Amino acid sequence: MPSKILFAPMAFSRYEATQTLPEKFSRLLKASGLAEKIRGKKVAIKMHVGQGVSYSTIPPVFVRKLVSFIKENGGDCFVTDHYVHPRHPEERGYTESNLGCPVLDDCGYFGKYFYTKEVSYKGLRHIDVAGLIHDADFLIDFSHVKGHGSCGFGGACKNIAMGCVTDRTRHEIHALEGGLVWDKAKCIHCEKCIPACNHYANRFKDGKYTVNYHHCTMCQHCLKVCPVGAITLDSHDYADFQMGMAVCTKAVLDTFEPGNVYYINLLTQITALCDCWGMTTPSLVPDIGIIAGDDIVAVERASIDAIKLEDLIPVGVPAGMELSGHGHLFEQLHGKNPYVQLDALESVGLGTQEYETVVIK
Ligand code: SF4
Ligand code: SF4
Repeated sequence: MPSKILFAPMAFSRYEATQTLPEKFSRLLKASGLAEKIRGKKVAIKMHVGQGVSYSTIPPVFVRKLVSFIKENGGDCFVTDHYVHPRHPEERGYTESNLGCPVLDDCGYFGKYFYTKEVSYKGLRHIDVAGLIHDADFLIDFSHVKGHGSCGFGGACKNIAMGCVTDRTRHEIHALEGGLVWDKAKCIHCEKCIPACNHYANRFKDGKYTVNYHHCTMCQHCLKVCPVGAITLDSHDYADFQMGMAVCTKAVLDTFEPGNVYYINLLTQITALCDCWGMTTPSLVPDIGIIAGDDIVAVERASIDAIKLEDLIPVGVPAGMELSGHGHLFEQLHGKNPYVQLDALESVGLGTQEYETVVIK
């Protein structure tokens, strides 16, 4: 059975404030059924506070509307992320006076407040759930959707799996990445493999071939130019990382009573890279709107479906970089099929990729 998602489109028909996205967001919240669910509850609003000179994270006007809505309906809330204070959220307008609620580190000021859930997926063993997420009654997963080098795309799942846990868990998930094996004995150090990589993903460090799997698209150019076969593939692929994200997301969501999580994806300023890069590049596609619902898989699927290759704004891709010609726009950019993440989320029982859309006018 399909899950219902709400869609507030960016497209407008008249020059009126009521036709703009913040006003449609207010109407979406009213239609969401959230008012009854959050009454009397402590609500964590998980978002990415960005860093550096990024300006594409969720604009404060939307956060303020959400906070006001929660308070008007008898909820108590805070905005949260990991590494809040070192990222200076105030530089992007995320302050208590602007938003109407505190902006807090989800693992506490020192990053040491968490609860460990044990899991077993390859090398992933510990999901250290952020203390403030664990202690909240209700979670609103408020995500800015964009591309992501490791995940293929960053949305609701990434906001939880990378943002509601400790560094130990993030490291265990990233350790699932891999794929290229370098044979020191075979290598003749011709370094043909380095310029063959047009993603700046590889280098020799202390004489050892090293790959940054965030940047690596598994295009295998380095492997193919090597004259002696010193680089080969191992059994890892990026799907392990996606599965690790899904396992982590499930462990975090399991700390909430059923029905006590809601997902809101903002599809504006959809850039190639994640907000954690501390910069904003031009949008890849025109702004789309807001997609929301209580099924994370349906919300993510509808978001990915709405980002279409044919809408590409060429300036969103770095000059000189060529798209691969295969699959979704994000796959063409990062070499990772974003739908794999959805298959992983579905396989751990977090929802369905089938959805029906209710448009908020
Ligand atoms: S291309 Fe092959 S032989 Fe040359 S440096 Fe790279 S790994 Fe070594
Ligand atoms: S597989 Fe492709 S992207 Fe990855 S390091 Fe080799 S050349 Fe670079």
